[in-house]
Amino acid sequence: MDKKSIDWENLGFGYIETEKRFVSNYRNGVWDEGGLTGEATVTISECAGVLQYAQTIFEGLKAYTTEKGETVIFRPDLNAERMEQSALRLEMPVYPKDRFVDAVVRTVRANNAYVPPYGTGATLYVRPYMFGSSAVIGVKPAEEYQFRVFTTPVGPYFKGGARPLTIKVSDFDRAAPNGTGHIKAGLNYAMSLHAIVTAHKEGFDENMYLDPRTRTKVEETGGANFLFVTKDKKVVVPKSSSILPSITRRSLVYVAKEYLGLEVEEREVLFDEVKDFAEAGLCGTAAVISPVGKIVNHGEEICIPSGMADMGPVTKELYDTLTGIQMGRIEAPDGWIKVVE
Ligand SMILES: *Cc1c(COP(=O)(O)O)cnc(C)c1O
Repeated sequence: MDKKSIDWENLGFGYIETEKRFVSNYRNGVWDEGGLTGEATVTISECAGVLQYAQTIFEGLKAYTTEKGETVIFRPDLNAERMEQSALRLEMPVYPKDRFVDAVVRTVRANNAYVPPYGTGATLYVRPYMFGSSAVIGVKPAEEYQFRVFTTPVGPYFKGGARPLTIKVSDFDRAAPNGTGHIKAGLNYAMSLHAIVTAHKEGFDENMYLDPRTRTKVEETGGANFLFVTKDKKVVVPKSSSILPSITRRSLVYVAKEYLGLEVEEREVLFDEVKDFAEAGLCGTAAVISPVGKIVNHGEEICIPSGMADMGPVTKELYDTLTGIQMGRIEAPDGWIKVVE
């Protein structure tokens, strides 16, 4: 399939409508067969559960072109499993894992002209999501749901090299101790908007959220998990029941152990320890790893030794290895790369 004529290197991270999306409806206790459609608009009841009580969950993953020219998707099975956990927590029906992966593959295949060519740094972002579509006025789960998958091409995350971020320790909480921080639900983002807009106004790139119970431990940012490196090159990732289990972070932990032979600790990380780390980064699908250069807690600055110019050396090795696996330059562990035939 011929590629669209898009200036891939200069694409931003915004929505661009592509040709096809997948839609399946849940009615009378069953999912219909579902299929691709050219209709990009959703029509639902004015009283739909999603509109009134925010009953909606989502996923985010990427399709891209490898060095060999194949269109591939990175670990969609893990997105299916995570969406299952999100659905159960919000009393929504589960979209079966094999059908989730199939829907993602079919949507990417149908929009293959929008999968950016190898070497551009751009990718096709894939957004599966589900919402309560039937009318709900008393607070309860909807009876009908819609599962959809759309795609949108996005540009290279780091234009002209990775710029280390400056992060604010937020006074807001992202998640409640026994709340919904561990699931990918729209509601977690709605309530984060005020905190991120405030941080941006003050000149920060992101918020660091602390654990909501004691406010002494590092949790994550609004949309990415933390990864730290100690002065003796140990990789440390925060563990908490209110952190969203990032697939990128889990993949980086595997890469650190199995490809780079690094020691990895997944444990609670006290905010007081942060000043002793040599490197820090944020992990998520969009950027893989964004380096963190500075963390500011009420005016008190913690300057990460790797500095404000570059990624730290271990962070860089992790980044290069995982993106190498994704792009087919380094052999991938079994099952990580789903080829779209
Ligand atoms: C999606 C998300 C991440 C990153 O997860 P990936 O699977 O690596 O993309 C991290 N934190 C939050 C809060 C998220 O919503």
